[in-house]
Amino acid sequence: MALLYAAETQGAAVLFEFLHRQDPSIEIRVWPDCGQDSEIEFVVVSGEAPTDLRRFVNLRGMQSTWAGVNALLNSRDLPPDVPLARMVADEMSNWMAEYVVYHVLDIIRGGSDLRSSQAECIWQQRTHLASKPAIGILGLGELGQDIARKLLGLNFDVSGWVRTKRQFEGISIYSGPGELPEFLGRNSIVVCLLPLTEHTRGILNAELFARMPRGSSIIHVGRGPQLMEGDLIKALDTGQLSRAVVDVFAQEPLPEHHPFWSHPKITVTPHVAAISRAGMGAALILENYHRAIAGRELLHQVDRTSGY
Ligand code: NDP
Repeated sequence: MALLYAAETQGAAVLFEFLHRQDPSIEIRVWPDCGQDSEIEFVVVSGEAPTDLRRFVNLRGMQSTWAGVNALLNSRDLPPDVPLARMVADEMSNWMAEYVVYHVLDIIRGGSDLRSSQAECIWQQRTHLASKPAIGILGLGELGQDIARKLLGLNFDVSGWVRTKRQFEGISIYSGPGELPEFLGRNSIVVCLLPLTEHTRGILNAELFARMPRGSSIIHVGRGPQLMEGDLIKALDTGQLSRAVVDVFAQEPLPEHHPFWSHPKITVTPHVAAISRAGMGAALILENYHRAIAGRELLHQVDRTSGY
């Protein structure tokens, strides 16, 4: 019986060494050298499975090395009744929080204007905003909560929008479509950290931008298809939005002639907010391997009905 590793190979040796040290009885096979298909009980995959996973008839569990599992869930190659877990790791949360905090500070300190002034050798001092902008996080899950805590530590007014209402200390919580307008109306920087589901596809659109205070900014680190790209350009060109930081796109890599590259109010980053790497979440992978073999629920198991 074996664990099949079919995810990122760069750096995977770190993970294999960890697994071997913690449990030498685990037999690791690396895609495409699967051996007998019937011997594979656990699979580690990334964004998409490299093969039809239904061929592994004794599969008991699957672990994604990515936090977002939309691509996997949309694949017909996924056995419908085998538990799937997504990646949750401190390292990933830290990277994401650093990215978002860095861009929030860049927006409020006018980083883009300062860089333009320097390019033209202009000594242009900016006055600081009278008060810190309120920041709203669409999707207050594993990643969103960590960002919220770090922004609270910098004394920002932070709110979050979720599906299921609950309490978070120091954070105003809004839930469901009914409370979205109020959430948007109070925030002049909105961060999107929603998983891609049928309910969040296209959610960053003209109607949503229009509900934010004029001159607001967005930071989009969720998934590309959540953003209506043409609507964003219009909102920036009319001044409804003043800045956008976009890390994820409908088409990746972003095509060379895409208007986002040269738009003066858009910062483009190539899906690097929190990159998965082999070895990240090794303890989670080990734990979920043992849970799968024992027939127990996985940690961070994906709810296939809600799609995340
Ligand atoms: P989680 O599953 O922990 O959190 C998702 C959050 O979104 C939850 O708070 C959930 O609400 C909320 N949510 C989901 N659907 C809706 C909805 N229809 N309406 C309102 N709220 C909703 O995910 P993570 O925080 O771990 O990751 C979030 C996403 O970030 C990933 O799915 C991935 O797409 C993206 N990501 C991007 C990366 C990058 O480099 N750009 C790297 C890693 C992840 P509730 O709490 O009520 O369930």
